[in-house]
Amino acid sequence: MEISKLFKEKKIVYSFEIFPPKLNSPIEVIYDTLSHLENLKHDYLSVTYGAGGSDVKSRTCDIASIIKNKYNIEPLSHLTCINSKKDEVRQVLDALRDGNVTNILAMRGDKQPGTIVADDFKFSYHLMDFIARNGGFNIAGACYPEGHPECESLTKDIEYMKKKQDCGAEFFITQMFFDNGLFYEFINKARKTGVTAPVQVGIMPITSTKQIERIVYLSGARIPQKLSKLLARYGSNKEAMTQAGIIYATEQIMDLVENNVQGIHIYTMNNLNIARRITENINSVISMENTSYLG
Ligand code: FAD
Repeated sequence: MEISKLFKEKKIVYSFEIFPPKLNSPIEVIYDTLSHLENLKHDYLSVTYGAGGSDVKSRTCDIASIIKNKYNIEPLSHLTCINSKKDEVRQVLDALRDGNVTNILAMRGDKQPGTIVADDFKFSYHLMDFIARNGGFNIAGACYPEGHPECESLTKDIEYMKKKQDCGAEFFITQMFFDNGLFYEFINKARKTGVTAPVQVGIMPITSTKQIERIVYLSGARIPQKLSKLLARYGSNKEAMTQAGIIYATEQIMDLVENNVQGIHIYTMNNLNIARRITENINSVISMENTSYLG
């Protein structure tokens, strides 16, 4: 099933992101995660590709295929191209096709210090164009409500987002953000620039001070005062901070729903307890929005 079609059938598409287990853990450990997620109502499951520097790329296709064929859940397989040759990408596409996986989140990937950058694909839209020419895949792209850290301006970044759409991206998932106001400004600008594809928002539940420090370092996300205050007040207590982070994410989602967001994608960090608690907080609301949408 093409995930982009879901946005026509539903008012709010709801999904989770997981990452593959490290190479020194057996691939079967993912079964536990998948069995738990299976019980949480959602539309699809995305699987990261070598994110966080760990070399587990080879596992992404296998896990996406397991999600589809064993659990009957729609997978979105992430794919990056920064260090890849065309032949390597062709092999990944063949493996995805063999595994019955049709949805790909196509990205450039982060520039790691010291890695050799192959020039077959300079930007994500070169990869999208390549996948589109190969045929048979539904392509998604990443977008950045606060601008990608390397880009000279948000306006330029949105122009490149439009280029992704022109090269085959049929829907987008945002980088995490914590201030909905920034997303509303971004989506208005994107629509004015000609981006018509659905945009699903990525929500990261914050459960520790260490986690937020890493996020700010990697993505440059702005932290609103309300979230800083929660971290200052509850950051020293794991349970209290987890609860406060879940409440913050829930309120963020409720505000987005009230403002007609097209989809919510939860960055689960493979933490099933948090995915479950957030889903329980909002599933009736999303269900009702989707039911009234169908009339
Ligand atoms: P691009 O679209 O290629 O953009 C990269 C930069 O180049 C931007 O600053 C853009 O503005 C600029 N640019 C684009 N075109 C031009 C041009 N013609 N001239 C000059 N500048 C230009 N990383 C992983 O490794 N694995 C994952 O699984 C993964 N999952 C992700 C999921 C989501 C939802 C998001 C938001 C990010 C994810 N990432 C992942 C991180 C992503 O790979 C990085 O953010 C990466 O640095 C950029 O990828 P991109 O596809 O947006 O790049």
